[in-house]
Amino acid sequence: MKVYFIGAGPGDPDLITVRAVKILERSKICIYAGSLVNPDILKYLPKEARILDSASMTLDEVIAVYKEAKEIDEDVARVHTGDPSLYGAINEQMEGLEEMGVEYDVVPGVSSFQAAAAALKTELTMPEISQAVVLTRTSGRTPMPEGQELEKMAQNQATLCIFLSTHKIKEVPDTLIPYYGADCPVAVVYKASWPDQIIVQGTLSTIANKTVSAGIKKTALIMVGHAIGARGTTSKLYDKNFSHEFRKATK
Ligand code: SAH
Repeated sequence: MKVYFIGAGPGDPDLITVRAVKILERSKICIYAGSLVNPDILKYLPKEARILDSASMTLDEVIAVYKEAKEIDEDVARVHTGDPSLYGAINEQMEGLEEMGVEYDVVPGVSSFQAAAAALKTELTMPEISQAVVLTRTSGRTPMPEGQELEKMAQNQATLCIFLSTHKIKEVPDTLIPYYGADCPVAVVYKASWPDQIIVQGTLSTIANKTVSAGIKKTALIMVGHAIGARGTTSKLYDKNFSHEFRKATK
């Protein structure tokens, strides 16, 4: 018996991995995060599967399901949104399983920041503009560890993918303008890859009003940086004068 922590991807059921589908197809017990996981992926489960929505469950209730599954020797598919390693709260579940002596595996998923970049048709890294991406959030009920406040994260002008923070769309630009400039491109991507996806694009000085006007309050990412939608810089990778392991320079 095993518990599989599965990344469901950002929303579109096509963006789940082949490995995840194979596991779902043979799972008779599934707990999924109903608040963000697209219920369409439940179609991969066998008809008789027992399906539970973790949105209405406590950690103890989830652990109790794992315990029951252990007793009847049945695998559990535990489906999280995006990639389970990001803001997924899987750690406490894994600890519970270790205490019970239950084996588990993690199946990665396409994260929402990747789906947002795809929706924007942008690279997050651009030569000479940004060669680093910071996945971060602002504090909510979960405080930010000292030194990781948005202001600190802004100091390198890396591309920022800000999770769980749409409700702070007014404060975020104020914090970032001193580091990125008021004209720095920003995109707010709501429900990336879902049929009702919305993209709002602007600058640090315009994005707050535009996001409020679009009625976006949650389930969105704030993507900030000069790489967002940038054109005019070229990677050395495909440069004809640049040789690498797989190709000789043509000149
Ligand atoms: N593990 C998930 C993140 C979970 S935290 C992942 O890898 O994507 C939940 C936050 O993720 C939301 O508040 C929002 O900021 C972001 N999010 C999740 N799905 C999203 C989507 N389809 N589009 C935009 N943002 C999304």
